[in-house]
Amino acid sequence: MKVHCAWCEKAGRDPFMGEKEPMSSDAVSHTICERCTAELAQSTAELLGPKKSITNPPRRKRRRRS
Ligand SMILES: [Zn+2]
Repeated sequence: MKVHCAWCEKAGRDPFMGEKEPMSSDAVSHTICERCTAELAQSTAELLGPKKSITNPPRRKRRRRS
């Protein structure tokens, strides 16, 4: 069965990442490639703010237990 990157497919890039068992199947398994993982992380970082690091998320809001 074929392995495609769903994000590349959406973006119109070549999504083919290889094949996996069962080889007799023509079905497509969707996953995400390293490139799209990096792009996704990048866009997430931009959403959070340009100077905030993903590895150090801002979670300092106080929350009262109710
Ligand atoms: Zn991809």
